[in-house]
Amino acid sequence: MNDPAAIRAVLETVMDPEIPVVSVVDLGIVREVTANKVTITPTYSGCPATAFIERSIREALDSNGLGDVAIATVLAPPWTTDWISERGKKALDAYGIAPPDLAKTATCPRCGSADTEEVSRFGSTPCKAQWRCRDCMEPFDRFKCH
Ligand SMILES: [Zn+2]
Repeated sequence: MNDPAAIRAVLETVMDPEIPVVSVVDLGIVREVTANKVTITPTYSGCPATAFIERSIREALDSNGLGDVAIATVLAPPWTTDWISERGKKALDAYGIAPPDLAKTATCPRCGSADTEEVSRFGSTPCKAQWRCRDCMEPFDRFKCH
């Protein structure tokens, strides 16, 4: 029998490939941990990082003697930015990615201005949109919200 807390501790060392400061736990990708199974929900279906994340989790489990823990992927309910932990949101903010919320506007992570606009649906990766601050004119990435 594995200790779910030990499994969770391993998962907290697996960082999101796109945001190397936020773990898959803080990002809300990990939905449930039991003694023999980890249930994950990808951030966005079709996101190319999804397969990479699953492989990273597999490798982390295997290298910590947890090779008998299965990984199950569930698509419903779909991942939402609400699942990002407070610690995850702070890390995103510090990393220069606007913490996602359900508001239509984003706050500039550099100067804090709310006078921002979406420039492109496609940012540095398919899972992020490119925004720009009208005050300091800095571009920044933002998670796409559903
Ligand atoms: Zn700004």
